[in-house]
Amino acid sequence: MKFLSTRGAPATGLDEALVAGLAPDGGLFVPESLPAFDVTDFDGLERIDAIGERLLAPFFDGSVLAPELGAICRETFDFPLPLVPLAPEDGGRLSVLELFHGPTAAFKDVGARFLAGCMQRLPLTREDPRPLTILVATSGDTGGAVAAAFHRRPGIQVVVLYPDGQVSPRQAHQLACWGDNVLTLAVKGPFDACQRLVKGAFADGQLLRTHRLCSANSINIGRLLPQAVYYAASSLWHLREHGEAPSYVIPTGNLGNGHASVLARAMGLPIRDIVFATNENRAVPEFLRTGEHLARDSVSTLASAMDVGDPSNLERLRHLYPGIEQLRERVEAHAVSDDQIRAQIVTDSLRRGQVWCPHTATAAHVYDRLDAARRRGRGWVLVATAHPAKFDTVVEPLLGHTVDVPAPLQALLERPARYTEIDASAERLREIIQAFSEG
Ligand SMILES: *Cc1c(COP(=O)(O)O)cnc(C)c1O
Repeated sequence: MKFLSTRGAPATGLDEALVAGLAPDGGLFVPESLPAFDVTDFDGLERIDAIGERLLAPFFDGSVLAPELGAICRETFDFPLPLVPLAPEDGGRLSVLELFHGPTAAFKDVGARFLAGCMQRLPLTREDPRPLTILVATSGDTGGAVAAAFHRRPGIQVVVLYPDGQVSPRQAHQLACWGDNVLTLAVKGPFDACQRLVKGAFADGQLLRTHRLCSANSINIGRLLPQAVYYAASSLWHLREHGEAPSYVIPTGNLGNGHASVLARAMGLPIRDIVFATNENRAVPEFLRTGEHLARDSVSTLASAMDVGDPSNLERLRHLYPGIEQLRERVEAHAVSDDQIRAQIVTDSLRRGQVWCPHTATAAHVYDRLDAARRRGRGWVLVATAHPAKFDTVVEPLLGHTVDVPAPLQALLERPARYTEIDASAERLREIIQAFSEG
């Protein structure tokens, strides 16, 4: 399988696309064609790792990683990703796809672990004595997932930059509790300064070559593809159990998770409607309404991991369905305010006995706002993107009680935190990368 750029650069193989992250023309890599599956192609497969191996095999055709795909899937999907039924409501059938049982309690663990499993097995990593350096700027969730996924992988080191004082205490701890091959930098400046430093490092030819810099950000095709796996698996489980294809409501920011559901359906998986829930960053609903996309500055909300003013993966979605009418037939999107998020968290803890993280609360709110006729008599899945304990500072004051911390997250919180404070200086970052590489 070859991968094209959304902006037209020539096709490349999977292995090159994984390492490059972004196409040379600044576009995003997309598969040149999508395989067509029938549900019977998955007959006899129940486990998510086995479904994943079958779903992703065509994308690995021609890659040096093809013989390793099964192992990469088993390693990635070794924590539960259950589809949990809720009590029936108004004749409708509602389930929650819980994506938060991984090491850092958010769905980003899936993509980060899959990408790490691929990178570790590339000849580029295994056959050169110099480590690959994964450089990542984070405003919270991504850095923790990437650090966790790459921790102690041979031949790879990770440098994480986050804005000092601007992530939640638990997020800061998840970024800094690694050590070994992970270096955590608390940058004196906002997230934008972290991103500028990372971009600057990639533009520094000497640094790029000597330290073999690589990015692991969320637009990497190696993070997108495995996310289609939990849509494939959950839709098959739902179909087998209820004889019916489910519809999904998905908390959405940069549209990576949402786009993966669109890919799964386009490949023939039994998925009916796809509804995106955003916070007050309304780029996706506005685009679907007007047909025009205007990149905006992000506004900060309670669902902070979805604070994206210019969602990168919109470019992939538009590439797949270039006509706005065509796209409107396939997806819809609705925005949710902070007040609605707060109210949903409170109400659903009482009414549904569910404690949502602020991101998942947007999906629950959008579901409740759908036409009753649309909810009734068919299956819907709410996608739960993070565990509420990760956002304790938002959720606990609303509920008036503490939220139990899941075991994997607790284990991380008990590890000592180590980080280095740095000024937002390119020179300083270069020195630090140098020193870290020399061990
Ligand atoms: C990153 C994130 C999102 C948004 O996912 P996208 O792929 O960027 O749309 C939603 N919820 C949580 C908890 C996240 O960490």
